[in-house]
Amino acid sequence: MSAPPLSPSIVPALDALLAGMAAAAAGGPPARLLAVSKTQPADAVARVAAALRARPSAGPLAFGENYVQEALEKQPALAGLGIEWHLIGHLQSNKAKDAAAAFDWVQTVDREKLVEALARHRAPGQRPLNVLIQVNIDDEASKHGCRPEDVDALANAIVARPQLALRGLMAIPAPDPDMDRRRAAFRRMRGLFDALAARHPGIDTLSMGMSEDYALAIAEGATLVRVGSALFGARPPKSPTATAPEPA
Ligand SMILES: *Cc1c(COP(=O)(O)O)cnc(C)c1O
Repeated sequence: MSAPPLSPSIVPALDALLAGMAAAAAGGPPARLLAVSKTQPADAVARVAAALRARPSAGPLAFGENYVQEALEKQPALAGLGIEWHLIGHLQSNKAKDAAAAFDWVQTVDREKLVEALARHRAPGQRPLNVLIQVNIDDEASKHGCRPEDVDALANAIVARPQLALRGLMAIPAPDPDMDRRRAAFRRMRGLFDALAARHPGIDTLSMGMSEDYALAIAEGATLVRVGSALFGARPPKSPTATAPEPA
């Protein structure tokens, strides 16, 4: 698809975000930006991709989607832009085949059954699928993700599969209005990440922080932040195919 004209609001939003990310890194290594494009139509994704491409400090083009089906529908129109696709929503095992084919990263691996299914379906000709272990850091009943004490076993299952590449950890802390508690959750994630890195020195990604709290997450050691609304503006209502929440 040829790049549509830049929307005037995206460029200042992106510049503000990149400046905020650099300030939060405080001279340390910069965090990567994952643009979260759930519910955004392909033309909006193409506009943000064009804006990102014009900012070398934004790093490689990477977009995050929550639903496998929605990504499959959007990707053909965006083929050729060199986008790296990340799945950041809960993944049902029966969608593992499509996910393993359509994504470069799956950030939401939280059980061994999914490790097996993704490894089985990643085609031999494809590069290993990058995976993050999702941790339910605030132990919320409503959230997916493994318990902190299950990280080691899952990591071992992943590294035993040549079709998968263990890259690190991901978390969605509780949306606590108390920013000190959110910060504490990010700090616990950093502790888990460092412990895991001691055993798996190849890992390089700690995915945490969204539009509201990316600066806090970077200050606590996030290496990748997932930002949607601060970049695209408010999300449009979900399309009918994207609305049906995928049952657990
Ligand atoms: C939607 C979503 C985001 C982005 O949220 P914003 O508040 O729009 O930045 C990040 N991570 C996950 C897992 C999401 O579902």
